Amino acid sequence: KHDYALLSLDFDGFKSVNDALGHSVGDQLLISIAKRLQQHTAENATIARLGGDEFAIILRDGDADSVMALSDALVQACAKPHTLGQHQIVSTASIGVVVGDERYTNAEDVVRDADSAMYNAKISGKSQARLFDDSMHTEALRRLKLEHYLREANFDRDFEIKLQPIVSLESGAPTGFEVLVRWVSPGLEDVGPDTFIPIAEEIGVMADLGQWILIKSAETLASFDGALGHQRTVLHVNVSKRQILHPQLMPLLIELVDRYPEQRGRLILEITETAVMDRRANLVPRMEAIREIGFPLAMDDFGTGHSSLACLHKFPLDEVKIDRSFILNIEESREFTAIYHAIVSLADHLGLKVVAEGVETEAQLVQLQAMGCAFGQGYLFDRPLSPDDALAFMRR
Ligand code: C2E
Ligand code: CA
Ligand code: CA
Ligand code: CA
Repeated sequence: KHDYALLSLDFDGFKSVNDALGHSVGDQLLISIAKRLQQHTAENATIARLGGDEFAIILRDGDADSVMALSDALVQACAKPHTLGQHQIVSTASIGVVVGDERYTNAEDVVRDADSAMYNAKISGKSQARLFDDSMHTEALRRLKLEHYLREANFDRDFEIKLQPIVSLESGAPTGFEVLVRWVSPGLEDVGPDTFIPIAEEIGVMADLGQWILIKSAETLASFDGALGHQRTVLHVNVSKRQILHPQLMPLLIELVDRYPEQRGRLILEITETAVMDRRANLVPRMEAIREIGFPLAMDDFGTGHSSLACLHKFPLDEVKIDRSFILNIEESREFTAIYHAIVSLADHLGLKVVAEGVETEAQLVQLQAMGCAFGQGYLFDRPLSPDDALAFMRR
């Protein structure tokens, strides 16, 4: 019935090939990809490169079934490794598909919907093809709206920090808190950091937001010291990989040390295991510099990346936080208990403080205590609290 279809294609791994192996290999990869697209489409198809690793294909056939069959075949063909010189490279395709029909009166809408479908294919696991439907439109609009609000955000008005206690598993007493950011502007209260932080990173807002969070954390710690009359508690602050490498970070940390000398060693920065392990990013020199000026470092989400226990000693760290996904398994699986135990012992041996994340039940607490794990965080102890409630938690 319809006489055209538009495919929007985006490839993974191209940027890392460019970064790691250089532009000439990157260019070879693009040529190899283009050849595959040509081989698998009919002669009257138009293939265009839109820039970077994004391509579009226009087909003179708008039958949804056959277009999807072709798209799936393209995904398969693209998933095979490319041999470029001595390199074997995989660069999978995510494809969004629109078939031309009476809904479309202008080309821009077709392109927008094909991109929405492509974006949808990407976020639902990559290496697949998706036919556009209206729900994706809503999703795309929602994202655009979030981007817009993030760009326009006034941090003091639109964001808040919450503090979740980290407790001694032996005594239950709080030893510190993790700072967790919340978006509180009207209508966006339900959008959690897992959703908005990656978007803020992508659109380049995270450096400033991260800076705001650090300053807010230092101010909050100073106000706790004032209210408690002593300097006991510490705050853990999450920093993203890009934030660690951002030129703004070191000057800010130096300024904080200057302004709050009594906070030396009491603002602990959390960096995820995946960031620490990223060899290309190589955070180690920066991590050393950060520690040197008085900020201890914790490896966050340990167990979700690909590092092995044997790597732990290679990184400049003071603490390890074991990811929540591990604790979910220790009640059921002896193997997990053994792994957990091994992590705790090794970290102890290396002089690293160990924090168990996501402790929700008494049973988990008992097991952790038996393993000699010293610190924990989770709903069993408390949810993330307002700064006032955190102060009350310390006093109770
Ligand atoms: P995370 O660093 O692993 O933080 C712990 C997350 O687990 C928090 O979610 C916390 O509310 C939740 N949690 C704590 N205890 C439990 C428990 O017992 N059970 C369960 N199911 N969950 C628990 P939240 O606040 O939604 O934050 C999600 C993620 O967003 C954080 O994971 C962190 O990666 C990121 N994030 C949050 N705040 C910041 C920030 O200020 N800066 C940066 N860069 N990332 C942040
Ligand atoms: Ca891409
Ligand atoms: Ca964290
Ligand atoms: Ca974590």
